[in-house]
Order: sequence, then structure tokens, then C-alpha cells
Amino acid sequence: MIVNFDQIRGHRKILELLTRVVHTKRLAHAYVFSGLEGIGKRLTALALAKNLLCSSGGGKSCGTCSACIQVARGNHPDLMMIEPEKGVITIDNIRNLKRELSRKSFSGGYKVCLVDDADKMNLQAENALLKTLEEPTPDTVIILITAKPYRLLPTVLSRCQHLKFQPLALFDASELIMGGVAGVGKDDALLMASLTGGSPGKSFTLKVEQLKGLRDSWINQSKFCAQAKDENFFVGEENFLSDKENVDLKLNLLRLWYRDLALYKIYGNFDCVLNKDKAEEIASQSSALSLERILNALLGTEKYSATLEYNANPQLTLEAILMMLNPKRDFFWSKKI
Ligand SMILES: [Zn+2]
Repeated sequence: MIVNFDQIRGHRKILELLTRVVHTKRLAHAYVFSGLEGIGKRLTALALAKNLLCSSGGGKSCGTCSACIQVARGNHPDLMMIEPEKGVITIDNIRNLKRELSRKSFSGGYKVCLVDDADKMNLQAENALLKTLEEPTPDTVIILITAKPYRLLPTVLSRCQHLKFQPLALFDASELIMGGVAGVGKDDALLMASLTGGSPGKSFTLKVEQLKGLRDSWINQSKFCAQAKDENFFVGEENFLSDKENVDLKLNLLRLWYRDLALYKIYGNFDCVLNKDKAEEIASQSSALSLERILNALLGTEKYSATLEYNANPQLTLEAILMMLNPKRDFFWSKKI
């Protein structure tokens, strides 16, 4: 489904800017839409395409003209979509794009091209795209959509207007989750919104039980490490991060867990706690740890999750975070592990 700008949650500043440039016809020839997965980048790009291609010409799509219907069906001749095939966007994909852009617009207006997961372009594809960006054809708009803009060549980034989409506010995200996932209650929706860092799209692909299963395996590991009395630190527990799948999500899970432990430690109640169904465990772990150790673990999670973005080893990252929790931490540092 392709919506209009006014039906998109969040991203107000970006939507205002795009509305303005569509009305004044002062669009950049290329944009990068970057930000977390599942927060509305592609939705916004499609809504922009619809506004630009609508034959009413008012800068806002009418939803009923043949152009709007073709965009909604995905077969408008002036709208191109490029996506990775088997995880990669190749030079052939970009050559097709160039060929299409060199043709005259069918409807006499704009030609719009969306490149989804643009960071999946291989180097040849990206260099070919760079040529196109250097010699833009009139009335064409290229939108590169990516959650990992740092993987794009700086030369490509510098030739596009970069719009950075922020995660949705928890309230907006949780309302979208309740609307999109059947049978999810308010508390679970808020937990899912928090665990996915404000990404309804991610929540739609994961089941609430799957998320809770991941969380519970973490709670066990956290408990074990917090109670460890010696260097036999990781014995008996499978490393939670050794499976690289959903690493971002798992780190959010850690963050939320320590956040809840800290809030309970400070306030002594569950009002602001997000893992509400784990009240007993929160009370028990929170009372077993000092506030300093909880905050250290929280800060450690922030610090190390930033390094994971750049492909640091997840297992070592987790071990470093867990060391923040362990009372024998000084012993580990002194051994320079
Ligand atoms: Zn229309």
C-alpha cells in the first residue's frame, strides 16, 4: 500500500522538506534516505514518487488518476525500483537504470528511481552509479534507501542530498505495532517497540514470543555472570551473541534490561519498567547488583554496540559487556583479557 505524506507517522521535518521541494519543483536529482530498518524510508520514497507522478500535477497525489493507480500497482513506466538480487545489486542493474533514465519520460514529467538496500551495490555498480550522479539528466530523481549509509562510497554520498530518518517515538511505533500485529496488547507492543529501537517494520517480521525467548535466554546469562564468583565466567552458558543473527536487536535487549534494572533500583517500583512481565526477575537481579555495576553494564552496552556497527566480533563484544557486570572484573582487567 502506498500512502500519502500525511498518513506517515513521524519524520515531520523530512516530510515538510519534501512537500516544499515538490511544490516548488526544486528537487535534488538524488537523495539518500538513511535510518534504521522498518521505520518508513521506503514508504516515504514511494509516497514521494506518487506525488511526483500524479497527473493532477498539484504536488500531492490524488490516488485516483491512472498514474496514481499504476504507481500503487508497481507498473508505472516512469517509476523504477531496484532491489538486491541474491543479496547484491550488480552493475547490470545500474546499467538498466541508466538506460531507463536516458529515455524520455512516458508521461512528460519526472522519472523516479528507487534503489532499495543501496548499500548492497557492489563496487562496480556503485562506480557506475557515480557516473550517473555526476551527469544528472533533467527531471529525474534517484532515491537511495539504506540502513547503512556508511557503506556507500563518500563520493556517492556527497552527490546526494542525505535525509536521515530517526527511529519512531515509542508511542508511535507501539501504536503501529498494535495496528499491524494481531493480538498484541499495549505492554507487549511497547516492549516490541523498545526492543526494535522504534522500528515497527522489524516488529512485524518478529513474533512477540520469539523476542521474549531471546530476552529470556539473555536474562539467564546475565544472572549467571552477575553471580559468578571467579573466572569461570562463561562456563555452562551458550553465548547469546555467538549467533550473529539480529545482533542489533539483542543489544537493544541488553540495553533495556539494564535500563529496567537501574530504574527499579532507583525508584523501587515498576512504573517505568518495560519488561513488565519479568518483574520478579528484575527485582531479584537489581537487588543483587550495585547501581554502579548496573550503570557500568548499560554504558558498556552503548559503547560496544557502537563498535559492532563496524563489524567487531559479537562474541568478544558480549564478553566485554558481561565483564562490566562481574564482581571479579578487576581480576579480568589485570589479566588484560
Ligand atoms: Zn493522481
